[in-house]
Amino acid sequence: MTAPHAISSAAPPPESRDARRVAVCVPLPLAAPYDYAVPEGVEAAPGAVVRVPVGGRTLWGVVWGDAAGGVDPARLKPVLEVSPLPGFSAAMRRFVDWVAAYTVTPPGAVLRMALSVPAALEAEVPAMGVIRADAWPAAARRTAARERLWRELAERPPLPMAEAARLAGVSPAAVKGFLGEGGLLAAPLPRARALPFADPDPEAAPPVLSAEQAAAAGALRDGVGKGYAVTLLDGVTGSGKTEVYFEAIAEALRQGRQALVLVPEIALTAQWLERFARRFGAAPSVWHSELSPALRRDTWRAAATGRARVLVGARSALFLPFADLGLIVVDEEHEHAFKQEDGVIYQGRDMAVARGRIEEIPVVLASATPSLETLANVRAGRYAARALPNRHGGAALPRIELVDLRAAPPDKGTWGRGFLAPPLVAAMAETFARGEQALLYLNRRGYAPLTICRSCGHRMQCPQCTAWLVEHRGRGGGGRLVCHHCGHVEGVPESCPSCGAADSFVACGPGVERVAEEVAARFPQARRLVLSSDHVAGPAAFAQAVAAIEAGEVDVVIGTQVVAKGHHFPGLTLVGVIDSDLGLAGGDLRAAERTYQMLSQVAGRAGRADKPGRVLLQTFDPAQPVIAALAAADRDAFVAAEQVGRRVLGMPPFGRLAAVIVAARSEEQAAELAAALGRAFPDAGAGVKLYGPAPAPLARLRGWSRYRLLVSAPRDVRLQPILRAWLRAVPIPRSARVRLDIDPYGFL
Ligand code: ADP
Ligand code: ZN
Repeated sequence: MTAPHAISSAAPPPESRDARRVAVCVPLPLAAPYDYAVPEGVEAAPGAVVRVPVGGRTLWGVVWGDAAGGVDPARLKPVLEVSPLPGFSAAMRRFVDWVAAYTVTPPGAVLRMALSVPAALEAEVPAMGVIRADAWPAAARRTAARERLWRELAERPPLPMAEAARLAGVSPAAVKGFLGEGGLLAAPLPRARALPFADPDPEAAPPVLSAEQAAAAGALRDGVGKGYAVTLLDGVTGSGKTEVYFEAIAEALRQGRQALVLVPEIALTAQWLERFARRFGAAPSVWHSELSPALRRDTWRAAATGRARVLVGARSALFLPFADLGLIVVDEEHEHAFKQEDGVIYQGRDMAVARGRIEEIPVVLASATPSLETLANVRAGRYAARALPNRHGGAALPRIELVDLRAAPPDKGTWGRGFLAPPLVAAMAETFARGEQALLYLNRRGYAPLTICRSCGHRMQCPQCTAWLVEHRGRGGGGRLVCHHCGHVEGVPESCPSCGAADSFVACGPGVERVAEEVAARFPQARRLVLSSDHVAGPAAFAQAVAAIEAGEVDVVIGTQVVAKGHHFPGLTLVGVIDSDLGLAGGDLRAAERTYQMLSQVAGRAGRADKPGRVLLQTFDPAQPVIAALAAADRDAFVAAEQVGRRVLGMPPFGRLAAVIVAARSEEQAAELAAALGRAFPDAGAGVKLYGPAPAPLARLRGWSRYRLLVSAPRDVRLQPILRAWLRAVPIPRSARVRLDIDPYGFL
């Protein structure tokens, strides 16, 4: 990523400025803001959030600046309404423009992410209820029902009419009638204040930091209020990174400013939220896609008005128009979940850095396994780094051992093929005997990733995607075949659709459910918990599962990547990785890096408290550099080797990449359009290269045919203008789609 470049539209001299006309950016993918007339008596300064007519409807937009002119003033449509909320600051508008320019999307498409809750912009119209008048109106007739209402509503806050009727045991019509005659008065209902907008207190419960932690915390704290700077907080799992960046948050609070914490997956943060509440005496505001509409609206407003002091959220929280942001923390900065892959395609971590630069505030990137991008920025001096090389409280890092599956293959049990090699089985038995917990990690949902016909070799494939169907058994036991790309579901057929053989299908390879089956057969007494998005859906269920593990109600967890992240389970001392080689297959540029990060993270779950941890990695290739580096606990060697490889190939972080994905219903049309794009690629010189077009690895997805092109360039080339001109030169039929992915992380 490059530094944000200024997008200053040179302001016209003050005397030519016409406050009665403004340019308004609306949340639609338009090339530029539209001009609107500002009616007499209306104040619509730059940044104001305004309602304007667009096409046949009205939308909330933001005054982007002075009108471009060129439209007959008499024909301009008017600004209809100005939101009472604080507007978008100049920095926020620059941020929207910068993200739009970087991702090659229209500013309105980025603004739509910032104005994601239109209801938050409406003036708050409180719901009305009734209270009792001070005195019985002389003209009002006395009835038994009214007497009861009079008695029951004495000294009560406003109540909804239905509630008042129920309380007094009268009909709603009686309430209405009494209201009509002045015995009851209409009054706004108090708003339910379920929202946790109590202020976190920086002095509530500060921790006692170790010397190492205190040094890092001091550096972060000193940076708050001193402008833009990015600091990598590079600490091993369990070193207390969270406690340390909490001190930077405390400082932002002391300075009266807001803090934003981005986390890869908000559903997984129950423990984080508890720790925050313990440290600051109040909960933070939370932002994610599953908030109720009311909570979403209130949280958006709280960010915009400054009432939300600390907000923790998924990547989309980065687009909230904070009133006075003073700090951004990106936790687990290496996580690919920060990349948004649809709509506006962006890398949230990189955009967080851009926002920090534009807002002139510090950004903290925390990780035990930083991305190569961030490490390169540290080496180049663009980012500072603070290390926490030791676990807190003297806990040792777990010992990582390799289990060579060629030398020690799993034995076949009565339940069929096994996936747990003898050394892992032995370690599990020892762990259970000591009353400690084990975690088996396999990043594969379901029962088996492939279903194959024993007689003819037919493989069950998704009818819409280039993908095998994954068998899921769930609790009931009956098998379903599911496509993990499009959600297609079918039953396991009774006979093979290709050769007709009956009952010929066999499951190939393990998913977490199949490993759980083996654990049940080998250790019937062990209490098992399968943890994957299929088995534990939603934040509440996840929090419950985590609590059960913490409380020691589970002996063995069998989980996908959802278990790897940031959890702290004191009783967990053994981690077994079923298939360490799984992520290394395929040609993904970051396959090795991702595997290293993932497995370090999983290994880091072991032995975080006083009992030492042990990690067994099952592998077919112990000499593979990633696996060997994990076993040697030598991150630096891994990173150095990986950097050499990337540098030679001119790949990120040493070069730039942009991907173009062409999709169409018809294979022919997709192929033709991809070829046309290939032919139209300009000679941009300076080492800019095009690879492809080629059929995407996921050549069909949801019934669409897909092709990919990849552009690479040296770091100092700004690709965006080249890409913009290139894509503009090729007409794109309405029935096809072309997506541009700057800094791609997915290569399917
Ligand atoms: P990391 O994010 O680096 O993996 P955490 O911040 O989760 O590490 O810390 C690991 C555990 O150690 C947590 O339970 C945390 O509360 C505890 N811990 C870390 N530092 C301190 C400290 N200074 N005082 C008390 N507990 C601490
Ligand atoms: Zn599919």
